[in-house]
Amino acid sequence: MLDLRDVQVVFDGFRALDGVNLTVPDGELRFLIGPNGAGKTTLIDVITGLTRPAAGSVRFAGHDLVGRKEHQIVRLGVGRTFQTSVVFEELTVIENLDLAAGFRRPLWTLARRRRGVSEAVAEALTRTGLEDLAGRSAGVLSHGQRQWLEIGMLLAQRPRLLLLDEPVAGMSKDERERTGELLTRIADDHTVVVVEHDMEFLRRHASTVTVLHEGRVLVEGSVGQVSADPRVQEVYLGR
Ligand code: ADP
Repeated sequence: MLDLRDVQVVFDGFRALDGVNLTVPDGELRFLIGPNGAGKTTLIDVITGLTRPAAGSVRFAGHDLVGRKEHQIVRLGVGRTFQTSVVFEELTVIENLDLAAGFRRPLWTLARRRRGVSEAVAEALTRTGLEDLAGRSAGVLSHGQRQWLEIGMLLAQRPRLLLLDEPVAGMSKDERERTGELLTRIADDHTVVVVEHDMEFLRRHASTVTVLHEGRVLVEGSVGQVSADPRVQEVYLGR
């Protein structure tokens, strides 16, 4: 599904990614960890077309992504969240979902839509468990609910690959648990890559973890394997 080979990104002579190889099979929930500056955001930027690699290949579902524009990559089915919120506070939950879905909606579906919310929106609402809040203004949502809405907005765009940046940051224990379950369910029929630092969360919800360090993949394996690896312990020393 997603396949990166020998990807290099250079900023003013500094190698932010230095030969990254990464394969994420269809339907996998993959976690990406690594200390600050390891290259995690740069990697996501390369996949989504925000940063062009100096060398290497980035393939997704049989398409070569290098050189494609961001909106073309979205159309191929790649969605991402950012650390900055994209929720419109003055709109309701369902209006936010509808707006997000609209970015991919062809005009001929408008007539059909007048009869009710689109299937994609209804599905995103159910998946994220926000049905009861559909008519509420997004501005009154709790931090966790807002994060789920953002994931819902991505789902409403019907992506095949979701790239999520620290989805449980700032969440309560219960919200984290619910998010872990949500991600596992989403991975039933999507490929999901999650940047996340919270080791406790990884222990509970991660199967495969890729550790980035200094622009390279340091280790890849189960949470148990990765956290027991001396190279990883050295990188995270003091944590
Ligand atoms: P992470 O997300 O793992 O914390 P980043 O991908 O943000 O790491 O950054 C990797 C390295 O690349 C860092 O040293 C960062 O300072 C550098 N970097 C990232 N973006 C730029 C940029 N636009 N210009 C120059 N250096 C950058």
